[in-house]
Amino acid sequence: MYLRKFSVRQLLITPSLPIVNEGKSTSLKDLQVGWNNGIVISTRDTLLTFDPQNCKKTVSGSIFISHAHNDHTKGFDSKNQKIATQETCELYEAKTRTKADNKKVLSYSDKIRFDDVEIVPHDSGHILGSAQFQIRTPFGTIIYTGDMNLLETLTTKSASIVNCDILIMEATYGNPFYAFPEREDTYGNIVSWVIRQIRENRVPIFQLYTIGKAQEVIALLNDFTNLPVVVDPPIARASHIYSKYNHKLVFLDSTEEEGQELLRHGNCAYLISNGNSNMIPTERKAARSVVTGWALRFKTPNGAFPLSSHADYPHLIDYVKEVNPSRVYTCFGSSEVLAQNIRKECKIAARPLPTIEQTSLMNFIHG
Ligand SMILES: [Zn+2]
Repeated sequence: MYLRKFSVRQLLITPSLPIVNEGKSTSLKDLQVGWNNGIVISTRDTLLTFDPQNCKKTVSGSIFISHAHNDHTKGFDSKNQKIATQETCELYEAKTRTKADNKKVLSYSDKIRFDDVEIVPHDSGHILGSAQFQIRTPFGTIIYTGDMNLLETLTTKSASIVNCDILIMEATYGNPFYAFPEREDTYGNIVSWVIRQIRENRVPIFQLYTIGKAQEVIALLNDFTNLPVVVDPPIARASHIYSKYNHKLVFLDSTEEEGQELLRHGNCAYLISNGNSNMIPTERKAARSVVTGWALRFKTPNGAFPLSSHADYPHLIDYVKEVNPSRVYTCFGSSEVLAQNIRKECKIAARPLPTIEQTSLMNFIHG
């Protein structure tokens, strides 16, 4: 998700090509898979869009939303039918404080059918409610996974492994450089850093993603320290949804009296959303930290922890081997590098997801 802007630009300059009918199997000629303002999968009878990027543009067919991060929820702006898990809808509503309308809610393993295509969501292991979609067509089975993680964390289970003919997968950390340390080691480093800051009379502050990472750090501090955790209001709203469906989290909202009092005296950890640059209302010094997989690339004096909700490169390769498709399309991030390495390491046909122009898509469906 972090390299989204880069990846979209990269995809847009990919030449438009006929998609699946380039392969050996002639039975796939009535199936199109590609990028058109989102992941598009169409047979001659059915057109589905997954994680559209801009709903001011026309989006055709029903829209599937994989999870509640900003770069995957633009589809909620559309008038079309939206399909997502209950948790994704509630996290989106908590984040935006708007109601998601015209929605159809599915649980993992539920089925929904559109003419000749059946779709089943499965856990993608990324954040609460995140889904990968199994798309069964008369021409083969496709898995589309947006952001995913193969590791079980304090707040998520690992991604399900579902075999398929065609895999469309994220490539956020699709470069061999990204191999994360053991998660338990990173958990230990975070807790040690927090204890050191408190001992030295500083308030430990974490700047992180509002949904997913924040709840994992709250769970970590709840489970392994006695330190109160104060969070900003967007993190508080998302954390209430986690507490409802997933991991019971204990935290205080920074806008409430008790949270403000704790912050003032500094006997707490403070979690703030990325982009929230408000002054820290404390009488003590503050020690800032960032928690992101990109921390592998940088170090700051106050700590940067490579904890990610995504699979790293070795796990992306493991995932492909487990799913064992006959071809892979990569998107979002290091798509070219990952495709190249899948060809080399897994001996599976792979390439970045090609763009389908709107007219070509319409001709395909109505042609
Ligand atoms: Zn995400």
